[in-house]
Amino acid sequence: MALAQHQIDKPPFDVEAIRQDFPALSLTPYGKSLVYLDSAASAQKPEAVIEAEARCYREYYANVHRGVHYLSTKATVAYEDARRNVARFMGAGDPSEIVFVRGTTEAINLVAATYGREHVGEGDEVLITTMEHHSNIVPWQMLCEEKGAKLVVAPIDDRGDIILEELEKIMSERTKLLATVHVSNALGTINPVERIIEMAHERGIPVLLDGAQAAPHLPMNVAELDCEFYTFSGHKAFGPSGIGALYGKKELLDAMPPYQGGGEMIRSVTFEKTEYAPAPARFEAGTPNIAGAIALGATVDYLEAIGMGAIQAYEEELLAYGTSALESVSGLRLIGTAVHKASVLSFVMDGVHPHDIGTILDREGIAVRTGHHCAQPVMDRYGVAATARASLAFYNTKEEIDRLIAGLEKVREIFG
Ligand code: PMP
Repeated sequence: MALAQHQIDKPPFDVEAIRQDFPALSLTPYGKSLVYLDSAASAQKPEAVIEAEARCYREYYANVHRGVHYLSTKATVAYEDARRNVARFMGAGDPSEIVFVRGTTEAINLVAATYGREHVGEGDEVLITTMEHHSNIVPWQMLCEEKGAKLVVAPIDDRGDIILEELEKIMSERTKLLATVHVSNALGTINPVERIIEMAHERGIPVLLDGAQAAPHLPMNVAELDCEFYTFSGHKAFGPSGIGALYGKKELLDAMPPYQGGGEMIRSVTFEKTEYAPAPARFEAGTPNIAGAIALGATVDYLEAIGMGAIQAYEEELLAYGTSALESVSGLRLIGTAVHKASVLSFVMDGVHPHDIGTILDREGIAVRTGHHCAQPVMDRYGVAATARASLAFYNTKEEIDRLIAGLEKVREIFG
């Protein structure tokens, strides 16, 4: 993807300086310096984000879009500025194409309950892939059950790549939506979304991309991608929890029925009839996560100041280092070896339960995730119940990967 000029003209990537921005990285669990390798579950926050949220509560907190008073006006301006920042970060043409949501899960449920309910009927199909997070499976399953439609699943190969020829074969005139993950949380696969969107659009199929694991690692441009919907969660992208964004093409959002009813999403209400507000307000019923949205605006500012292109380049180096280091550990098998990967090192070790790996590493001050990563069908595909997952972010270092490897050698010693 072409980088904007502001992503190219950056000072050299200085990971030690960046680490200073994140207070949590100086924590010392069990007296050991923290090695935080669980950013795919939720990332740590830079001071700029913590401060933006605190400043809102300290200096200009009030409800938005309602009051005529000073504080409400100021909060509303900041909230809408944040929407503009997020639109710029995502490459959306118009801020009204950005709906603030709780996160990726809510965004997908929103699309399923509105666009999905209107466009998917009996005998229709919703197409997903084997590597989806549960939040891009269950809402579609619920919709399909309600409508008598069918959930169709595109297979992946042993490395963890979508088999494009198979995907193409199962697209049909019955396919009403293709919903796929951009970057897999369990495997790290970066899907060839440009090609997938092209294939879908040739058949008139709209595409939703789950960008929960892409937003923290890759430059994003929804206008270039030309996808119909794109979503990410603030908390995985170094922002607050409880806030995220849904991008939808303007003409689609404008035509969609509301998600939830209540305040904020109306133009006028009588007991006989309610007229709904235009998008995005139509989809933001009730008092939103005001400070969270404002801090999300600060988050994307922070990321853009470093440059997503620089972040991606640094992480590629880190991932290559981590991959070959893990391959040197005896009896360790990487799950997910796709050609294009981001940030995730999922693995199993002969004779050791992933939870034991996680517990032993924890006592060394190393935080990894163990379990099925809310992607049980992926685990089934590889015949494992769970994996251990080390996930990287741009604040991690090669020295931290060395600490991980030393921890795994300890696991090996204990379990033989
Ligand atoms: N999709 C993917 C790929 C994810 O990794 C996650 C979170 N693990 C989600 C969706 C759900 O995100 P959230 O819990 O922030 O709604």
